[in-house]
Amino acid sequence: MNWKKALLDMKPYKPGRSIEEVVRELGITKIVKLASNENPYGCSPLVEKSLSDNAIQCQIYPDATASALRAKLAEKHGVNPQQLLLGNGSDEIVAMISRALLHAQSNTIMADTTFPQYAHYAKIDGAKTRQIPLKDGFHDLDAFIEAIDDQTSVIWICNPNNPTGNLMASDELLQFLRQIPSHILVVLDEAYFEYITDPNHIDSIQWLLQFPNLIVLRTFSKAYGLAAHRVGYAVGHVDVITELNKVRNPFNNNSIGQLAAVSALEDEAFIVECRQKNEQQRQRFEAYAQQHQLHLYPSETNFVLIEVPIDADEASEKLLEQGYIVRSGNLLGTPGYVRITIGSADENTGLFRAFDTILTKED
Ligand SMILES: *Cc1c(COP(=O)(O)O)cnc(C)c1O
Repeated sequence: MNWKKALLDMKPYKPGRSIEEVVRELGITKIVKLASNENPYGCSPLVEKSLSDNAIQCQIYPDATASALRAKLAEKHGVNPQQLLLGNGSDEIVAMISRALLHAQSNTIMADTTFPQYAHYAKIDGAKTRQIPLKDGFHDLDAFIEAIDDQTSVIWICNPNNPTGNLMASDELLQFLRQIPSHILVVLDEAYFEYITDPNHIDSIQWLLQFPNLIVLRTFSKAYGLAAHRVGYAVGHVDVITELNKVRNPFNNNSIGQLAAVSALEDEAFIVECRQKNEQQRQRFEAYAQQHQLHLYPSETNFVLIEVPIDADEASEKLLEQGYIVRSGNLLGTPGYVRITIGSADENTGLFRAFDTILTKED
């Protein structure tokens, strides 16, 4: 078969190990998964209630335009429903943007290291990727600007960045946006927005009025705790959303996911509580890292990228043997570090105990 050339040196997405796999392979029964930044507190009880109270008619296609969910999101963000695009996870929106804008004659700019899906879809669509090394864990926005040329069509900014967890200052981003030509789409992927505690952070959705070439991605997979339901969304200018809708699969969000997301939006208190608990637990990681003199990137998310005193794969393996699934930095482009999802208080206490065993004797 004549596969696209780009596929030849690509690999399918490699997810973190599932709990079932670890149970099967290592025979451990108590497993804590801290690898995919899922919400350790689950989701709002309102979601569970609405899913059990509302029978879904399986034979009926879902609402192709997710009208109830878009209306609720429009109200929440103070935008027009036509400015919203729903995706089967925000990952699908990344794919839609790539499909709509990238091709063999175009290039796209992103950080190195960042969320890998931007480069992944860009390659499939034949575009050249310009990956700009992080500067102290942050996007090097000046270098992004230097990398722009006539063929640049999309710029990806992951904020806070995955896997480093750190947040770009709003004033720097604003300054950056002012310098980007209006025909280039700037994607701000804010999958961890709900976890941000920095009081100086500005909600970038308000910048859409000023920058019609900006699109903001959010998701229900992280703080809202609905990863299984695959609901993400984009907020952008009506014209941008109209074009992206042309490449969207008609029924990309199923009925259960739409219902779950609508109910999740009715419980803002749940999000506030998760943010607070996450911040408290994040401080424990910071203290742990400091105590053992391990570098930890300042995080505004529900995960931390922490230095390990041994090879990252080996460290992950040792943690796994003790029942903790984390992500080795070797896979993420950050060797010497592991990425750990911030769990509940008990989960983290156990994780620290397991982590103690990979520290050198002097500690
Ligand atoms: C988790 C994540 C996403 C994708 O989440 P979906 O489940 O597809 O909504 C997107 N971007 C970043 C940076 C993420 O960490």
